[in-house]
Amino acid sequence: MSGNTESNEIKQSPYKGKLLIDGQWCEAADGCQLERMSPADEHLVAVYAKAGVVDAERAIAAARKAFDKGPWPMMKGAERARILRNVADGILARKHELARMESLENGKPVAQSLAEIEGAADLWQYAATLARNLHGDSYNTLGEATLGVVLRDPIGVVSIITPWNFPFLIVSQKLPFALAAGCTSIVKPAEVTSGTTVMLGEILQEAGIPPGVVNILVGRGSVVGDVMVTHPDVDMLSFTGSTAVGKQAVAKSAATLKKVSMELGGKNPQIVFADCDWDAAVDAAVYGIFFNAGQCCNSGSRILVQDSIAEKFTAAVIERSKHVRVGDPFEAGVQVGAITTDKQMDTILSYVEGARKDGAHIAMGGSRIDRPGMYIEPTVVTGVTRDMAIAKEEVFGPVLAVLTFSTLEEAIDLANSTLYGLSAAIWSKDFNTCMTTARRIKAGTVWVNTFLEGHAELPFGGYRESGIGRELGRLATEDYTETKTLHMHLGPRTDWYVPKS
Ligand code: NAD
Repeated sequence: MSGNTESNEIKQSPYKGKLLIDGQWCEAADGCQLERMSPADEHLVAVYAKAGVVDAERAIAAARKAFDKGPWPMMKGAERARILRNVADGILARKHELARMESLENGKPVAQSLAEIEGAADLWQYAATLARNLHGDSYNTLGEATLGVVLRDPIGVVSIITPWNFPFLIVSQKLPFALAAGCTSIVKPAEVTSGTTVMLGEILQEAGIPPGVVNILVGRGSVVGDVMVTHPDVDMLSFTGSTAVGKQAVAKSAATLKKVSMELGGKNPQIVFADCDWDAAVDAAVYGIFFNAGQCCNSGSRILVQDSIAEKFTAAVIERSKHVRVGDPFEAGVQVGAITTDKQMDTILSYVEGARKDGAHIAMGGSRIDRPGMYIEPTVVTGVTRDMAIAKEEVFGPVLAVLTFSTLEEAIDLANSTLYGLSAAIWSKDFNTCMTTARRIKAGTVWVNTFLEGHAELPFGGYRESGIGRELGRLATEDYTETKTLHMHLGPRTDWYVPKS
């Protein structure tokens, strides 16, 4: 079956999504609905029940009850692991359907969506291994009369809020790890890309997740998200999205002192030294900015290139970028799909215009493509200086800013010159150059002679305004726990206040 035929099937019958609250699929209390049109060709993809405040409060109450009354938090790790593996199997069994929905709503190429769905299934499998390995600590070194035991307790009810750029992958970076720890949750995907998260609800039920353990709400951030951030019955907020909304959410959640895990924006440098592996670095520069149409927290949106090779390297990047295939997400061979929302389209174009006004040179692209749907030309901006908005702020689109440096010191200084600190890449064949730079970059992830790799085993998160906390890695479940210390006294207890005579 060709990709286009699959897309046509969905065109004839939009997906119908409901809210999942306490194990039941339901309409919104006020009967409101939300429609999603495809950004690639503007046909109706899905119609959802649109949650409001009442639905959010019901979902939180269900998650609270499922946590306080069990059985999920006290279930054996082995049993939780079995259910998480079932979820992974369920995802793989429906991977083509999930990938199709992701592409219809997000606009990304369907082959890329499929790889993301498979990657997400791997995260559920990995979390299952952690469910059996979560453990505390003990101290037998505190003297004859004392034994110290440190327990890992699931933190409780977790609000999970996700963005539209990698909807299924990002919910899978959070939810399975929260579940592995024994938490219950309310999940809210971005309203424009809710489909795969709602489908995940179906998979979770088939896998054996008890009612109320996962509740799924489709709805607006300012309404549903706000309740999830502020409600006193929520113990933790796990948020991925923009730094601006993330900061507001942290401030609002502080009223009830929730634990927060924040995965936010980035303005990530790829630092290209003169002794780089030329082909690999050119390829990474192109892939790094145009993958997911640049709508990627890890996007390599700044190329910092050593001035001795800058002109030739930029020309090579532009030449290769001309061959990037932009088009319908369901057309074979397309590498860059549609921009996901019209708001994002406007933001990207206004950054290009701003760069032009600031005196930078639009060396390639810069315009909306004249065809139905929302597409932007792959864009390369040169003559950029560190003070320009295009060098400092997250554009979140297929727009590459090229800056130059002369020395290693200057490269490091330039790399660290934004408020963000999510990721960076270094391209050099010299071990000392790579290691010196890697150690001094302020970023949660540094790729050395590679770009955009990710593994379930390796932690991910940001320095500075790119976030708080880490996801993935062997400690991922610990983030969803509280630490409880047991002081256990052995033998007769001495009376401190009134010594016995
Ligand atoms: P966004 O901040 O606009 O929205 C993210 C989520 O927050 C959505 O579900 C939205 O509905 C919700 N939200 C909006 N207002 C809210 C409010 N007042 N209270 C509670 N929730 C609210 O971000 P976006 O445009 O969906 O995603 C793009 C951003 O996400 C970029 O900045 C990108 O860098 C970032 N991102 C970061 C990572 C990471 O791992 N660091 C990964 C992907 C995306």
